[in-house]
Amino acid sequence: MLNLVLFGPPGAGKGTQSEKLISKYQLVHLSTGDILRNEISNGTALGLEAKKLMDQGILVPDEVVIGMISNKLDANKDANGFIFDGFPRTVAQAEALDSLLESKSSSITKMVALEVEHDELKKRLLLRGKDSGRPDDANPEIIEKRIQEYLTKTAPVAEYYKAQSKFEAINGIGSIEEIFDSICNTLIS
Ligand code: AMP
Repeated sequence: MLNLVLFGPPGAGKGTQSEKLISKYQLVHLSTGDILRNEISNGTALGLEAKKLMDQGILVPDEVVIGMISNKLDANKDANGFIFDGFPRTVAQAEALDSLLESKSSSITKMVALEVEHDELKKRLLLRGKDSGRPDDANPEIIEKRIQEYLTKTAPVAEYYKAQSKFEAINGIGSIEEIFDSICNTLIS
């Protein structure tokens, strides 16, 4: 099983690279952001609560996203593997993911971290906001808040995987194909 954590700040290109990895390796894509947006468009109670935080660029509580991932793992028992995109975003989420996978006799293969500097991220997110329809992409203050959430709560997750020797950094600047090739090369090494 190939279980990848695709890591990086908002706007690093995780969604774009996930799509390419899924089709090359036949993996199941688990994006907590997409699952939450789906809950919002279905008007569920969970979606309505999460929206209040997402619209401010704040992370939703760990137990909410851990529960969602647990359900998705159970619903995809025959998968070749998973790409975790936008999850885990806190050390508590990373620990919970390890326990969930361990209970299924599985584990994370690698964390691939896309590295892009701060100013470039802001530019990309504002550009994406013009046609993505995502309210959290359209406002520079919310974008800044999301980057700050990343730096304070999410960046430490890299240390968690470094301690397990599973961390691989990839330069997130370049063409989509160049970045994809770099990711694939780390997977065969
Ligand atoms: P994303 O699509 O990954 O940029 O996520 C959009 C928003 O959903 C984030 O700003 C958070 O409010 C929320 N979110 C997505 N994934 C998580 C997660 N793993 N933990 C907490 N909040 C999350």
